[in-house]
Amino acid sequence: MMTKTIAEIIWLAGIVGWYVIRHPYARRSKKQAISRSLTDRREWTLLIVASLGLAVIPALYLATGLASSLDRPFIPALAWIGLPVMGLALWLFYRSHADLGNNWSASLKVRQSHLLVTNGIYRLIRHPMYASFFLLGLAQFLLLPNWLAGSAGLIGALILFAFRVGREEEMMLQRFGAEYSAYAGGTKRIVPWVY
Ligand code: SAH
Repeated sequence: MMTKTIAEIIWLAGIVGWYVIRHPYARRSKKQAISRSLTDRREWTLLIVASLGLAVIPALYLATGLASSLDRPFIPALAWIGLPVMGLALWLFYRSHADLGNNWSASLKVRQSHLLVTNGIYRLIRHPMYASFFLLGLAQFLLLPNWLAGSAGLIGALILFAFRVGREEEMMLQRFGAEYSAYAGGTKRIVPWVY
């Protein structure tokens, strides 16, 4: 049986899972020397917008009933779809971290010993971690029956992706040159074979 409370617990468990997956990689990546950082105010804004949409707004909704006037009816079938979407999001998030390893950073950075990763999940798409944010946002939409709290994650992920991906690819191109053009020429960004 799927209830509103169970759907909310699934979302919460997903966010805890997200943090548990990231934590060890975040600790390790702190030790990697930086050769170039594009972390400016714009980057910080994007990170804040994405965190607001994917975590803070939905958490406040659960804790305080924020924007409850925007509640929509709870539809168990939607929440049932949300469960595997959340599972897929976490799996993709884990795979991206496992494959990127020490090359990962929360904001745009090139490490001194940066390696271009083209294997594993990166063979299929160039931005699996951003794809996992879209799936996380979709799971949030399916699990939380509120127009604001449900949609905030997809909007946050979209803003982060739209304002960052061009800069990130430009940065990678400057660092890896022909190697990156060849890689980018043979892969899609988010959806395999499509986009
Ligand atoms: N856009 C990727 C990675 C997000 S993390 C994804 O969605 O999966 C952002 C950092 O990852 C960037 O600062 C960049 O340094 C690094 N990065 C992105 N693509 C990479 C690749 N193919 N190989 C190595 N590092 C990469």
